[in-house]
Amino acid sequence: MMEELIFSAKYPFSKTSKKILEESGISLSPQIISSALLRIRNSLKGTTSKISALKKEDYIQEISNYAASRMILSCMNNSYLTNKFAVSEAKRAYSYLNYEPEETISTLSEEFNFKIKKSEDKYFVHFSTYLKHSPGSLDYRLINRDLHHGYIIVNKHELLRLLQEAIRDRVQNIPLLKTHPREIKEAANSLFSELPKITTTKITFKKGDNPPCIESLLISLKKHHNLNHQSRWYLAVYLINKKMSTEDILDLFSNFPDFKEKTSKYQIEHAKKQGYMVPSCATIRGYGLCTANCNIKNPLSWKFKREKTSGKNER
Ligand code: SF4
Repeated sequence: MMEELIFSAKYPFSKTSKKILEESGISLSPQIISSALLRIRNSLKGTTSKISALKKEDYIQEISNYAASRMILSCMNNSYLTNKFAVSEAKRAYSYLNYEPEETISTLSEEFNFKIKKSEDKYFVHFSTYLKHSPGSLDYRLINRDLHHGYIIVNKHELLRLLQEAIRDRVQNIPLLKTHPREIKEAANSLFSELPKITTTKITFKKGDNPPCIESLLISLKKHHNLNHQSRWYLAVYLINKKMSTEDILDLFSNFPDFKEKTSKYQIEHAKKQGYMVPSCATIRGYGLCTANCNIKNPLSWKFKREKTSGKNER
């Protein structure tokens, strides 16, 4: 039993942990709520908390605070926070996995239905598992790997990175519940009120640099609201035409709660290659994104028109 508890405290997203919670029930004591809030706050700061349990009850509390964190995130329904939490939990699991015996690695691989075979210090990962969970970096591209009868050879670190991605996927999949216990709602509200202080923003435009439609998108971005595909595309094309570098656009877009660097980078570079021009104000109006009557034909003329008008007013 103690072994299962230790395993579950390290890997609270596992089926074993779920079973323990079902048997023990989840307490929403002030202590659990405060540890759950700390866990989420830490994930926002990019840090993770380690287990400090000594006895059975401590391990159950550890598992409970993970479950309470997920309940709070479900109540908040903020994908930025959820994604941050999932990344942090996956990194935490990786840090434990690194020191685990083969047996534990294989238990977790089975948990995620990894198709793998081991030979000496190499692992053979079935390409379907590999494709599903490989990280976005170049090293993991299939084109850079050897394929042997449907299996890719990876080392231990690479296998653990695949597991890390699988864990992130599972943790970020938080069901949205219709009702939440009072303690969870209060915790969610307290975290909401802290959001502007604990999240970072890297937007540094000067007032009047951009037309009202773009300003409005940038305000949403600052608040970490999600934008639909068309709004993102318009913002990206506008910034590209303003000669902003891919890195700076990515920096801005990282404020989106569902930011995926690999996908965004591909889309920005694709838009650059295609040489997309900023659509006319009439088209933007058609998209429902026009927020003012600037009396110009294209949003890119905004600064020029503004400078001309303020020059006239100064005379
Ligand atoms: S008139 Fe053009 S620049 Fe002004 S808000 Fe509308 S779309 Fe944007």
